[in-house]
Amino acid sequence: MSTRARRYEAQLVDRETISPHLLRLTLAGDGLAGFESTGIPDEWVGLIVPGQFQSRYYTVRSWNGRELMLDVVVHEVGLVTEWATRDCVGDQVTVTEPRGSFAMPGDAGWLLLVGDLTAMPAMARIAETVSKPVETRIWAEVPDDLAGYLPDGPGVTWLEPPAPGQSALAAVVESIDWPPGDGYFWMAGESAQMRAIRKHLMRERGLPSSAYDVMGYWRMATRRQPRSVDPGPIWRAGKAAGKSDEQIWAEYDEARDG
Ligand SMILES: Cc1cc2nc3c(=O)[nH]c(=O)nc-3n(C[C@H](O)[C@H](O)[C@H](O)COP(=O)(O)OP(=O)(O)OC[C@H]3O[C@@H](n4cnc5c(N)ncnc54)[C@H](O)[C@@H]3O)c2cc1C
Repeated sequence: MSTRARRYEAQLVDRETISPHLLRLTLAGDGLAGFESTGIPDEWVGLIVPGQFQSRYYTVRSWNGRELMLDVVVHEVGLVTEWATRDCVGDQVTVTEPRGSFAMPGDAGWLLLVGDLTAMPAMARIAETVSKPVETRIWAEVPDDLAGYLPDGPGVTWLEPPAPGQSALAAVVESIDWPPGDGYFWMAGESAQMRAIRKHLMRERGLPSSAYDVMGYWRMATRRQPRSVDPGPIWRAGKAAGKSDEQIWAEYDEARDG
């Protein structure tokens, strides 16, 4: 089985500031012919910006058959950050075919979404897509005022990051008052926090791996730039081997630590 994702060339046709740390990039062009959404609401693409060979991963905020919208968080430094904040409209970029991992069981009675700013595009799309038949609650740890970013309906708890570039989401999850019955828990953010949460969900809450999806979206780096590892091949190989989402995301975190 090939683990190489198909690639598409696209042009950055618009950049909009949504909040001080969030930019909306619109990609378009003939090179996107054949690009198709998986329909999975947390689907992501790899983005390769001019002059780089490494990808960074971004949620498909929307794809209307012509324009691909990505909402990109601006960090203090970073490969995509530096490109996206300079004069980049008109640039050619490469995106990989999308993959998604959200898999809420059909009989879930509730949905809990927890994430930081990088998870906002996925949480917004998930809430837009699946919130109606299922009671949805969201915990968003964001440094900006993004009240209008999420659709109406879900109850939202807005949290301030403890410090710029820091996250305390693991403690937040440990204090959640869980709804009764069976549901689905989705979370994304800084990898170390996500590892702590997986342990909590397995050991303290005893959730089966089909009841949650916890993804490390980025790594706190103190000394060197973190390795960027494509989640796509690990995802496809794991699925082909019959592994659970839980095992696959744990392997993804390990690959990036290696
Ligand atoms: C499946 C998936 C979906 C994702 N979806 C999105 C999305 O829709 N929007 C989005 O903005 N990001 C998303 N991310 C996260 C994004 O890929 C990373 O944040 C990425 O590192 C940003 O690239 P960069 O080139 O700007 O910074 P990098 O060059 O990767 O890193 C530079 C520095 O910034 C730090 N850094 C990286 N991310 C953060 C952060 N979130 N907060 C604070 N410091 C950080 C690093 O530790 C490093 O020190 C997603 C990741 C995955 C795996």
